[in-house]
Amino acid sequence: DLFQPERPNSKGFDLGHAPTLAAIDTARAPYAVHQWAAAPLIASPLSAAGGAEHPVTNPANLTQVGTVRLPSDADLDNALAAATPWQASAAERADVLNRAADLYEENYGELFALLAREAGKTLADCVAELREAVDFLRYYAARIPAEDPVGVFTCISPWNFPLAIFSGQIAAALAVGNAVIAKPAEQTPLIAYRAVSLLHEAGVPVSALQLLPGGGEVGAALTSDPRVGGVAFTGSTATALKIRASMADNLRPGAPLIAETGGLNAMIVDSTALPEQAVQSIIESAFQSAGQRCSALRCLYLQDDIADTVLKMLKGAMDALNLGDPWHLTTDSGPVIDDTARAGILAHIDTARAEGRVLKEMQAPQGGTFVAPTLISVPGISALKQEIFGPVLHVARFKSQELDKVIDDINATGYGLTFGLHTRIDDRVQYICDRIHAGNLYVNRNQIGAIVGSQPFGGEGLSGTGPKAGGPLYLSRFCAPDRQRADS
Ligand code: GLU
Repeated sequence: DLFQPERPNSKGFDLGHAPTLAAIDTARAPYAVHQWAAAPLIASPLSAAGGAEHPVTNPANLTQVGTVRLPSDADLDNALAAATPWQASAAERADVLNRAADLYEENYGELFALLAREAGKTLADCVAELREAVDFLRYYAARIPAEDPVGVFTCISPWNFPLAIFSGQIAAALAVGNAVIAKPAEQTPLIAYRAVSLLHEAGVPVSALQLLPGGGEVGAALTSDPRVGGVAFTGSTATALKIRASMADNLRPGAPLIAETGGLNAMIVDSTALPEQAVQSIIESAFQSAGQRCSALRCLYLQDDIADTVLKMLKGAMDALNLGDPWHLTTDSGPVIDDTARAGILAHIDTARAEGRVLKEMQAPQGGTFVAPTLISVPGISALKQEIFGPVLHVARFKSQELDKVIDDINATGYGLTFGLHTRIDDRVQYICDRIHAGNLYVNRNQIGAIVGSQPFGGEGLSGTGPKAGGPLYLSRFCAPDRQRADS
């Protein structure tokens, strides 16, 4: 049997347990001021001329966390030339991926420090992110299909899940036996470098997994070179469309593109909802990770009869949030990723303020790229012209006879990633969930934090190509279609 016995999901950490918190603090301590250095990790010596070197900064306080050396054109070409599908048997590949998962867990102190200092992740986010990364590695290792690999896979990942999504794409491509060239987000090369080092330490050959840090130019080169056989991408819808066009022009016909993109996610809270439960879910869905999840709640629909009650409680719950440096164990919400992100979000809030639509503002912490959680009133989701990737929640009201129109408006955005519903009427759950177009539907809970294996994650329409990450169909897209095997 090629398959490993299925391992359960990672246990994570119980943050309500004081000795666990103390242990985490001790494990992170050696990395409180550590400076990391990232560079391309490729299967040939780096070119002497070298690429540019840049500082990497902590968004919470703008201090330096390390440096990244970018690839030169020669490094990029050498990596593509050296990329070699992983020759090990499926059982060996599974062993190595499981060993990498163990190494991730053993190195949690350093990984948590990196996630906090490079990506602005709170402790709760660090725990969830490490768990998800480990779960992806073990889940795919346990489900390696018999099909052949495509060849060389480019994996382009975002800064908002610099360990989990980064590792998930790589683990899937490697499980099937592809060679991977990974390009992490420009903002988070240090975590990527550490993760790839651990995967190499676990036994993935360097020729099967190479790292090329950099920005859009590196991504463009890696999605237009005919030596590339397929692309996994998580990021904006606009970039996904560019990648698709570039692949159509330059790659073999039918080269797979697995894209997970943006969302304009809504939640409906009807008059039968339990307000305390709804408010807790709204706070988590809109403001955890400073709203920087593609799954995050962007537009909340409150039924008129319950709207004032929920809004009052929501504002109180916002006041209770601890904003600040995510290094502190009690911080609930940290900074946004960088100054460009902050400026864009603040411009959106400024416009709403000028129109008298801001329902609640708070004081943002000083010293980093912080945006305080903000509530903005809108007539409906169609007022949102784009995804605002930060802690900004738009609120609309509806009357009971307008429910069908609300559903139509949500579907009319063209996105379809997550959707949340709070109601205590069973028939209404069925009615609404049957009609909403979204990859992940959540009822009477928050709408973020999909769990590998039990909640495969992915959207439809403008939100992605499918198949869902952390689900049974995902690995099939990293395999060569039968037709191509027959041809070759
Ligand atoms: N899988 C994450 C969640 O369920 C979101 C991933 C993303 O933001 O790209 O919250």
